[in-house]
Amino acid sequence: MLRFATLGSGSSGNATVVQGGDTCVLVDNGFTIKETVRRLAQAGLQPEDISAIVVTHEHGDHISGVGPFSRRYNTPVWMTHGTFGATRDKKIADLNLFHAHEPMQIGDLSLEPFPTPHDAAESCQFVFSCGAFRFATLTDLGCTTPYLQSLLTDLDALLLECNYDADMLRNGPYGESLQARIRGAWGHLDNVQAARFLEQIDTPRLRRVLLGHLSEKNNCPDVVMETIGHYAPKAVERARIMSQSEVSDWYELA
Ligand SMILES: [Zn+2]
Ligand SMILES: [Zn+2]
Repeated sequence: MLRFATLGSGSSGNATVVQGGDTCVLVDNGFTIKETVRRLAQAGLQPEDISAIVVTHEHGDHISGVGPFSRRYNTPVWMTHGTFGATRDKKIADLNLFHAHEPMQIGDLSLEPFPTPHDAAESCQFVFSCGAFRFATLTDLGCTTPYLQSLLTDLDALLLECNYDADMLRNGPYGESLQARIRGAWGHLDNVQAARFLEQIDTPRLRRVLLGHLSEKNNCPDVVMETIGHYAPKAVERARIMSQSEVSDWYELA
């Protein structure tokens, strides 16, 4: 059995729980301790249920809650050498450094990290597997690549970034330089890039697609689903939008 839920997804804070067998891992934590504990409880979990935190990169919406949570609950933390080098909070209770190309095992969960094009020191995302089931996270990247396409075929489930709608970004409140950063090859995926990638890697095996990291200013759920419907129509029924404010349902592969 492999199951997962997002505690929140978006530029104000990210955390995803992934459970395989007796092991429950938190992917990133951009929330305060109080908020994390509240959201974990909504997912039916206690802080002590978290076996480890794995970190994708040092941006605040992913790492701000990692150090405080690890110190309060003595939780082991895994991050790349580059991410640790770039993060300001070095006081991690139990730190484990890894390279973004090296598979690793945390309890019952196998993790295959892979590097991503993003404006961070050594960002990565993960394929999680337990038994025959494979779930991947793919957020915070400026473009997709043939490497990612080959790596992420044969998934059972995927959390995929749909950060912004190109027109909404252009007409939205952000200044030119911030827009250029988001749009760039080391920024974030827009809805069309995400939908096209989804169409490329879609197989009958892919049962669940979580669409996340939506910009609150430059995107909205209706536009995301409309774009998926246009570029990856077969995936619409399996797709769910992840929210910044709400804990998602658990999605289970069994
Ligand atoms: Zn982010
Ligand atoms: Zn980021």
